[in-house]
Amino acid sequence: MVSNGASTVHGLRRENRARALWDLYLNGPGSRQRIGAGAGVSPGTVSNVLGDLMDEGLVLESGMVPSTGGRPSTIVQVNPAFAHVIGVDVGESSVLVELFDLAMGVRGTHRSVTELARLEPADVVAQVVAGVEAVLTESRLGADDVLGVGIGVPGLVEHSPLAVVHAQSVGWDAVPLEALLREHTALPLALDNGAKLLGQAEHWFGAARGAADVVVVLLGQGLGTSIFTSGSGAREPMGSAGEWGHTAVVVDGRLCRCGAHGCLEAYVGAGAVVARYDELRGFSGSSPLDLEQRATELLSRADTDPAAAAVLDEVVRYLGAGIGNLVNVFSPRRVVLGGWLGRRLAELRMPEIAEAASHNALHTPFRDVELLRADLGTDAVALGAATLPVARFLNSGGQRDAVLGSRPA
Ligand SMILES: [Zn+2]
Repeated sequence: MVSNGASTVHGLRRENRARALWDLYLNGPGSRQRIGAGAGVSPGTVSNVLGDLMDEGLVLESGMVPSTGGRPSTIVQVNPAFAHVIGVDVGESSVLVELFDLAMGVRGTHRSVTELARLEPADVVAQVVAGVEAVLTESRLGADDVLGVGIGVPGLVEHSPLAVVHAQSVGWDAVPLEALLREHTALPLALDNGAKLLGQAEHWFGAARGAADVVVVLLGQGLGTSIFTSGSGAREPMGSAGEWGHTAVVVDGRLCRCGAHGCLEAYVGAGAVVARYDELRGFSGSSPLDLEQRATELLSRADTDPAAAAVLDEVVRYLGAGIGNLVNVFSPRRVVLGGWLGRRLAELRMPEIAEAASHNALHTPFRDVELLRADLGTDAVALGAATLPVARFLNSGGQRDAVLGSRPA
């Protein structure tokens, strides 16, 4: 394809701005020298680019650092107040809406309780819209101050081109969630799987930071992953095995809530953990409403209660087998265990989980794998969702009009 000179210059300028902004964003405040090196642009270019960004108010000077053998260097950073983004976590037990400044500082929070398996999509839309209005009011901002809304949802998200959600575990079959939301808001929207977005937050800001080949596992009631490879540019996941929890580990095994038998989730998901504990003690019919509390209590009793210990041992073995499978398929250098249940299990039994995984993985890919507990809590799904409009903004070279241009009239 042949480009004319003007569009090439314009494209190059935008690309240089985008590179400098991505470096500032992922590596934090720094000197012009560091940003130029990180962005792969010349000292002259980085000075021009940062000068423009400073004139526009998107970047500001925030201090000085001593430099080796020369004058002190000025530190620059993204201006947190330049713009805001909203992240939404449509979770199985609550809808969390958070408003962030451009440095991802939380400026407003709204949470409403749900039981997603029983909710109509229209009710979820109403909760998201009410939450967005609430955080704008709380932070005294208007819709014009917001670059966009990122939304994390359970299940598979198909972009065709508006996002359609397939979440069998909560009874959502091809729900046109983006179209439903568009009836109520003119803000730019971006939807994706919640596990994938938690992984993106962990990759930008948490335990997966700086790793090129990494798998982030999210374990709570459900079980998903997000996968980053060095070939994908490492800014966004190359893909997600968001439904990894529904891969079979036992042929004709336990009934899973998706309707199939023997899924990994039916052995390590929070619902399965609590149900197995009840089964061992001869109880039945526990409520799914207090799942997190019950699973947390059960795990805290593992040292004194034989039934709790047996459940924990079983979960460690199955989770290890699942991680071993992931290692065999994707050969990551790092596996990060997240989600409220995943982080708790990592605190209690990380060496045992690693050992179980080693029994189920081939020696060669497993030898190089580092297994870590996630830094960020489950609330970080909303943070991960907020990275969607941020990524769009950075890719545009920090051009607010280009991002807001996608807003429907
Ligand atoms: Zn299943």
